[in-house]
Amino acid sequence: MNSSRQRQTGCKSDRPRHYCGLFGVYGADRAAELAHLGLYALQHRGQESAGISAADGQRILTHKGMGLASTVFADPAIVARLRGHTAIAHNRYSTTGSSSIMNAQPLAIEFKCGQLAAAHNGNIVNADALRGAMEADGSIFQTSSDSEIVLHLIARAAYGPLPDMIAEALALVRGAYCLLFLAKDQLVAVRDPMGFRPLCLGSLKGAPVVASESCALDIVGAEHVRGVEPGEMLILDSHGTASRRLPESPRRAMCIFEYIYIARPDSRIFGQMADKIRRQFGRRLAEEHPARADIVIGVPDSANTAALGYSEASYIRFEIGLIRSHYVGRTFIAPEQSERDLKVHLKFNPVTGVVKNRRVVVVEDSIVRGTTLKQLVRMIRGAGAAEVHVRVGSPPIRFPCFYGVDMSTCKELIASSHTVEQIRDHIGADSLGYLSVEGMLKTVPFPKDMCTACFTGEYPTEVPVAFEKEQFDAARKCR
Ligand code: SF4
Repeated sequence: MNSSRQRQTGCKSDRPRHYCGLFGVYGADRAAELAHLGLYALQHRGQESAGISAADGQRILTHKGMGLASTVFADPAIVARLRGHTAIAHNRYSTTGSSSIMNAQPLAIEFKCGQLAAAHNGNIVNADALRGAMEADGSIFQTSSDSEIVLHLIARAAYGPLPDMIAEALALVRGAYCLLFLAKDQLVAVRDPMGFRPLCLGSLKGAPVVASESCALDIVGAEHVRGVEPGEMLILDSHGTASRRLPESPRRAMCIFEYIYIARPDSRIFGQMADKIRRQFGRRLAEEHPARADIVIGVPDSANTAALGYSEASYIRFEIGLIRSHYVGRTFIAPEQSERDLKVHLKFNPVTGVVKNRRVVVVEDSIVRGTTLKQLVRMIRGAGAAEVHVRVGSPPIRFPCFYGVDMSTCKELIASSHTVEQIRDHIGADSLGYLSVEGMLKTVPFPKDMCTACFTGEYPTEVPVAFEKEQFDAARKCR
């Protein structure tokens, strides 16, 4: 789920940002309460807004708002009001400037077949073309989100069973999507034919549950059944769980960044535990870029797993050398000048007793801009480290992502315009080593089925058309 306006803001973080977590359950008591729990487990996938739609067989009720699930659903009465045995839920990622309740999901509409609510994770690459054509045809959009385009396409599809109308609509859509649709007596879950984003199926005492990551199944006590296949549509209703297929794609393109950073380590993603793959990235990184050092530390929390892998393979002791505060509010406005410095300090602090007089390997999972890492290196040196060696558990990010991860402009990716040595100099490290593309691909079980476009520039689809052209030109210049 994305909007062009958001895209133009570019990436503001040192780590990739990503969009949206999905959760759905059919045929369970107090479905909205389960969905509410699911939102907590998937909070890392989006913190801008949260919402739940619930259906009781007669009607759909939706509640959504800006902020974390704990904020949006702070009053227990809200969830209690969302009665019904079926629910879908959505966490959305935040970007500065364009956060808006109008883009919060699930999107709820009334159309010729009645009420429908939808939740989307991903990014539709031909959104501008589809929207332009529909607007020229008189359509009026309520949001700047590409997700709404799918609802318009469904509303225009030939009248029939909802899964048929969804399939007809999705035949026109290109790009990355996992979608949940809630009708008053049916839940439909779809994963795009290339399988960019993950979606899994679980069972809670026989009630089917779908979620972006398996950690959301765990939190409700559901058993993991399997991943939803690329191009698979699951239809959950009173007849049980049915599966059908969208037209086959010639290739798959599962986002390798889910393994590097996005997914929680305790989630099963694309058939593998994220923890296992991420640890192997760290091990391989140690083989490719050894360091003479006394300790290995990770940039918390997401790089800790790769740091453990680095430590295991290098026999250099793993330590907790950076502490991350989880309580920094997203709306905090830091005073002027060193706003960014202060933000980094608010978030991270080195453990002096751990790093002082030590040669430290700092493992990070990825570098987008390099700004935070530069300050972390300075901070660790300030705490007395003798040497700081940075190791990155992914290759240099040199190209924008068009599939739902907020790395939208080439110019904001430091590796698109700097060599590794220049980046080392920029962040002030004694040495810098990235995992190679080859090493990364050797670590995952189905390398040919992964998307690696942000590292290689080899896009698995046509890139989008308007901003797309500008950005792709920029990407080409980066080569
Ligand atoms: Fe994932 Fe990178 Fe592909 Fe985007 S371009 S889907 S972040 S691997």
